[in-house]
Amino acid sequence: MKWIGGRESSNVDDRRGISGGGLAVGGGIIGVIALLLNMFLGGGGSDQPQIQLPDQSQQMTAEEKAADDERAKFVKVVLGYTEDVWGKLFSEQGKQYQQPTLVLFRGNAQSACGFASSASGPFYCPGDREVYIDLSFYEELKNLSAPGDFAMAYVIAHEVGHHIQKLLGISDKVANMRQQLSEGEYNKYSVMMELQADFLAGVWAKHAHQMINILEPGDIDEALNAANAIGDDRLQKQSQGYVVPESFTHGTSQQRAYWFKKGFDTGDMNQGDTFRDPSLQ
Ligand SMILES: [Zn+2]
Repeated sequence: MKWIGGRESSNVDDRRGISGGGLAVGGGIIGVIALLLNMFLGGGGSDQPQIQLPDQSQQMTAEEKAADDERAKFVKVVLGYTEDVWGKLFSEQGKQYQQPTLVLFRGNAQSACGFASSASGPFYCPGDREVYIDLSFYEELKNLSAPGDFAMAYVIAHEVGHHIQKLLGISDKVANMRQQLSEGEYNKYSVMMELQADFLAGVWAKHAHQMINILEPGDIDEALNAANAIGDDRLQKQSQGYVVPESFTHGTSQQRAYWFKKGFDTGDMNQGDTFRDPSLQ
């Protein structure tokens, strides 16, 4: 991805040097880690044990710190590109785009959605309209065989996709239904939300390339590969050896890649109604 020299967003709250406290609740880009965490913690709830993670910044070498700062810069530029694209697409519809804040943290941080840790993965909190990212997720993606800068750009764009859903009132609608739904039914809606966020990430990639010419050969494959790597089926198979479709909250590898690609191919927000898609009913 071409990003060096790009405009850095000013909406980044860099808390990498600040230690938070406590451990996270789930809801991020991937379902399984949060699920395992909850199991590990005995089902979550309000009485979560407080686990203090070491402040890794003390242990970083100068070289690691430089790499970390480079990644922080990359995140700021990608967030800037999401502002450019969504600002334009909203204004074309006569609306004003309200930009989200992105919190960069290391180890753990507090959000309106609970405590975040590196184990929860990147996530969007509708309560404070902020995207939370621990840069160690880069390494996590590599471990999941999804390396590359555009894999990370896709992750950021997916979280910003949740912000778009918040602005359009979609996430509130789903949240309001939650109490009337069984867990299995709610999981279905969760999958529709997540796949739509993948779709919106694809829409972003398309317009960002048209506006700013960001893509290099192989970038879209990096994003599709990442979408594949964090499908519920793949992650469940890796972590527990079998797959439980009713417990899916983010969609299969195939579905995630499909919806990102659909967003990228069409660039048309109106093509992303995952809630009415027959294959997801
Ligand atoms: Zn998501």
